[in-house]
Amino acid sequence: MRRWPVQPVLVEARVRAGLEALRLGRMADALDRVCERASREQRSYLELLDELLEVEQSGRYERNVEIKTRLARLPYHKTMADFDYSFQPSVDKKQIANLLTLRFLEHGENVILLGPPGVGKSHIAVALALETITKGYTAYFVTLQHFIDYLAEGPEPVGVKLRVFLRPKLLVLDEVGYLPLSREAATWLFELVARRYERGSIILTSNKSYGDWGSLFPDLALASAILDRLLHHSTTLTIRGDSYRLKEKRRAGLFQTVERPPEAAGGGPHEPVA
Ligand code: ADP
Ligand code: MG
Repeated sequence: MRRWPVQPVLVEARVRAGLEALRLGRMADALDRVCERASREQRSYLELLDELLEVEQSGRYERNVEIKTRLARLPYHKTMADFDYSFQPSVDKKQIANLLTLRFLEHGENVILLGPPGVGKSHIAVALALETITKGYTAYFVTLQHFIDYLAEGPEPVGVKLRVFLRPKLLVLDEVGYLPLSREAATWLFELVARRYERGSIILTSNKSYGDWGSLFPDLALASAILDRLLHHSTTLTIRGDSYRLKEKRRAGLFQTVERPPEAAGGGPHEPVA
């Protein structure tokens, strides 16, 4: 084995260089601090090694999470700790806790979040995607419109572009239902759902209930082929309630000025609505 020349006074430099060469840069950075503490606290060699390995491993884990979070293209960074359950009682805390165990992911099952705008569908999807990444898996977040735009543009074949959405362990497909789909777009959605079926989980959010899904697709056969695969192994959460966005606006007093007729406002004091 090739080693650096033996010069006892340079042992530290040699260890550092060896760590760098083996791409253990975090251990190299922590070397001084950890060795100094080990000698001060009279730790064993094994404990010293244990601490250095911990530094390297936790550093790598954090970097991994950071990269995967960036690649997931989440619209914002929120967890269920940021979720106010008291504002949205139709969201069952136990059901969310169950989803956060990620058992659905291990079995390739889907999660469908239904409800009107602003009730927390994307928030819950983002929180589950972050949990997925924390557990070492990959996730990707895309709105249905972006998915369609991406497949429609550029010269690459659709089959190749589709891989972006097939690779991640978890795919969040957000905002299904705002616009009816062309035959081509519906076929791409079918392709996506069929190819991830029982292989990789999808979290889908929609403002439409299943009964209204027929109107989104050019024909019922395609709608039922998609729904059939999507729902076969799935959990549906239907959220009923007020928009959190509007609650925040009300609190800021925006709604009042918009809602009140000018004469009623009369320049008097504005009472909070929410
Ligand atoms: P949608 O259901 O339309 O996808 P979002 O999940 O994006 O709505 O929620 C809109 C905004 O309100 C987001 O910033 C989200 O974090 C916040 N929000 C929604 N519901 C709650 C809640 N119960 N507690 C805290 N923040 C919430
Ligand atoms: Mg949303």
